[in-house]
Amino acid sequence: MTRMTATTENRTFDSLNPATGGTVGTHPVHDAAAVRAAVGRASEAASWWAELGYAGRRARLLDYKAVITQNLKRIASLVHEETGKPEGDATLEIVLAITHLDWAARRAQRVLGPHRVASGLLGVNLAATLEYQPLGVVGVIGPWNYPVFTPMGSIAYALAAGNAVVFKPSELTPGVGLLLAELMRESVPEQPVFQVVTGLGETGAALASDPGIAKIAFTGSTATAKRVMTACAANLTPIVAECGGKDALIVDVDADLGAAADAALWGALSNAGQTCVGVERVYVVDAVYDEFLRELTGRARQVKAGEQYGPITMPGQLAIIERHIDAATAGGRTLLGGPESVRAPYVDPVIVADVPEDSPAVTEETFGPTITVKRVADTEEALAKANASAYGLAGTVFSGNTRRAMDLARRMRGGMTAINSVISFAGIPALPFGGVGDSGFGRIHGADGLREFARPKSISRQRFALPGMKLTSFGRGQAELDRLVKLVTFLHGRRKH
Ligand code: NDP
Repeated sequence: MTRMTATTENRTFDSLNPATGGTVGTHPVHDAAAVRAAVGRASEAASWWAELGYAGRRARLLDYKAVITQNLKRIASLVHEETGKPEGDATLEIVLAITHLDWAARRAQRVLGPHRVASGLLGVNLAATLEYQPLGVVGVIGPWNYPVFTPMGSIAYALAAGNAVVFKPSELTPGVGLLLAELMRESVPEQPVFQVVTGLGETGAALASDPGIAKIAFTGSTATAKRVMTACAANLTPIVAECGGKDALIVDVDADLGAAADAALWGALSNAGQTCVGVERVYVVDAVYDEFLRELTGRARQVKAGEQYGPITMPGQLAIIERHIDAATAGGRTLLGGPESVRAPYVDPVIVADVPEDSPAVTEETFGPTITVKRVADTEEALAKANASAYGLAGTVFSGNTRRAMDLARRMRGGMTAINSVISFAGIPALPFGGVGDSGFGRIHGADGLREFARPKSISRQRFALPGMKLTSFGRGQAELDRLVKLVTFLHGRRKH
């Protein structure tokens, strides 16, 4: 939660504990001039950081990883205070962030460093080199739901690629952002390669429209992503956008139903459902539908808000969750909970079956601990329904048949699919993460995540002149052209069918 102070100059805002309403910290509202100054400092830092080279950056980032690990409890406790999530869940997200930081630091040179590529037969006299150079200053605009893991998916990869970072954390979790940057100064005291600016949406807007920003990495809602893109358009600043989702879980006829129910529940309810790749819809094939529902509701009765998961972090979200619960229960069959499950700031689990597919509870991102379950004839119908969404972030398939599961996973609309597990792709640093459609574009994590924060540089070097093949010269004659046509006809002129 956030509370603004009522002064006009030197404005500050408080980050509040969503469970208690108590003040966790007071932070400045950085205006466009303050953002400009931070980006200016970052610009100098970026040159120094790029000059350090891969080995220097790797050593410092691995040290930063160790510092974060040593401060795990302190960070987890602050995440708990600012978001309300249990410290165990906070620990899990920090551990995942650590593994990404480690991977990005170690792999950057291999993925981005100079390497020779084939120059082709027509370029036999050329040496071709490809390398990925840093962009400069990357602006990261982050969300509150995973205030360590999510921004670190951009920050770690942008830094490893040789950029400096200016991070604008969500107004709900500024303290966590500041702590991450403070810890970085222990590993890199020389230059401010990772700075934080705090404030509300307007501070993020100032970052997006700053001409010194080479790229924006945004995580948040689709509507805000569009506003950020509009701001970026003025300077032709590219963006990578990680937006929300309405992820589906498909249960096949031969799935382990206990495991599927367990995964559906954790995917939907953990972090109070405030997970961009959380499970929001479940499609179950007819033959196992009733048994799956028994497994699901039986387990769900053991889960309580305020015990296994925390409060709704953003107070404004409660109205959306309430609206979706009302819509779902009006059109479907309520299996667990209902409108009475909302007891602010907590929301107990809500499961509703047979909600019409055009209900907002099925089409819009709820970002709360709710699940809609639907009976389908077979996995083809499940897939068609899962894919009929404006969003396309991630999904899950539970099946006893690996071939069918892989086939469904490939055809599922979205950037990531987990099979017989939930959200498991997020913990594998080598796997890129990102969506399609309203879920955004571009990728963080993995080699693609490193390349997202670098620009390819192509260099062709002539090693020797090809005798009789001076093609890019006004001295070229007809004989050379004839030889070229002969060669290209030999190489490419034969039809195979
Ligand atoms: P927003 O998209 O509004 O905010 C995301 C980030 O963008 C925050 O840091 C926010 O700052 C910043 N921001 C807001 N306005 C601007 C702007 N005009 N220019 C630049 N930056 C801006 O998400 P909310 O936190 O309000 O959550 C709303 C919905 O977004 C949720 O209900 C959920 O559906 C979705 N969401 C998805 C997430 C995901 O992981 N994909 C994460 C979080 C939310 P500030 O917080 O200071 O306003």
